Amino acid sequence: MRLYLDHNATTPVRPDVIALMTEVMQAVGNPSSVHGDGQAALRRVETARRQVGKALCARPEDVIFTGCGTEAINLALNSALTAGSATRILHTAIEHEAVAASATASGAKVQAVAVRPDGVIDLDDLERRLGEAPGRPVLCLMLANNEIGTIQPVADAVRLVRAQDGLVIVDAIQAVGKIAVDFAGLGADYLALSAHKFGGPQGVGALLAACDAPMARQIHGGGQEKNRRAGTLNVAGIAGLGLALEQAVAGLADFAALAEQRDRMEVGLKTVAPDLVILGEGAPRLPNTTGLAVPGWKGETQVMALDLAGVSVSAGSACSSGRTNGSKVGNALGLEKDISQGFLRVSLGWNSRPDEADAFLAAWSESHRRARPSIPVKTLKAVS
Ligand code: PLP
Repeated sequence: MRLYLDHNATTPVRPDVIALMTEVMQAVGNPSSVHGDGQAALRRVETARRQVGKALCARPEDVIFTGCGTEAINLALNSALTAGSATRILHTAIEHEAVAASATASGAKVQAVAVRPDGVIDLDDLERRLGEAPGRPVLCLMLANNEIGTIQPVADAVRLVRAQDGLVIVDAIQAVGKIAVDFAGLGADYLALSAHKFGGPQGVGALLAACDAPMARQIHGGGQEKNRRAGTLNVAGIAGLGLALEQAVAGLADFAALAEQRDRMEVGLKTVAPDLVILGEGAPRLPNTTGLAVPGWKGETQVMALDLAGVSVSAGSACSSGRTNGSKVGNALGLEKDISQGFLRVSLGWNSRPDEADAFLAAWSESHRRARPSIPVKTLKAVS
């Protein structure tokens, strides 16, 4: 049986979600139609909206369903820049491409905010950057990093941005369903999530927008989602998102317990390879994620060796796999190239069995023994 340890790329759909979506797909009805079939579909959507609101401490009317997490981020950014009159975007170098590429594509001024060596935003640098340029800022900050799992101090960042009359977009795509997320408590204007990261289907996400958050259409068409996102809703996907989130939040204590097997595995990895680096080790992290780097042993090579042994892991985020110049986060944290190129992400998930991290350790140790090129041991730069 294969060992799937790439849950940050995508995680299996929960059985109850598959059953619900199958049932929904067997019914007909456009939620915008006034007849009974349409209204039944609308009830499915509104149930999911309430589930999302309840799970994330948001009002149901703050929830806008989208086609994916990336779309939710783009919708927030476009809204902040047009309706919100923001003129400059701030983000760190460890943000996902969904943020980095849409910031670049917007044509607005982009300011880079520094990240500390442990993979957490440097709030002093944020404060400096906020004050160094004129115009309304919008900060895009992830709640949890996709490659190394570090949890960012979003509420503190929001306070700094508010002092400059700025807006905040939270990319919570890796955090939702893995740790408790409180939209009201964070105080941000927008928050993006994606169903396939917590046991829902791929191709459906949502944006939470606070009641006073500026909103502008980026998809033109009908009046769905209160004129904030046109297009016929993906009723089955939305129903699946709602149930998956409800179940993920109910299972947060079990998810937190994954840290025990993850930490045991990390101790084992460092015993086998004392020069191995765990990125973000000293910072608060998601309980399921290890971002490791092995000097001189390319991440892609490790992925291939482990794949042959029946283990699925990745050498970075799924969206940037194929990259050969090292981990995006490793590079941003200033790792030397031969260490950053040795990046590997191991991510457990909601259905991981208690022995999966041990099984990974055994498979990885065997690959390490057989396949790691021998290199002189170097003094490594600390990253935690
Ligand atoms: N942001 C982060 C942190 C992610 O990890 C991902 C997906 O990997 C995305 C954004 C994009 O989400 P989606 O795949 O739903 O478009």
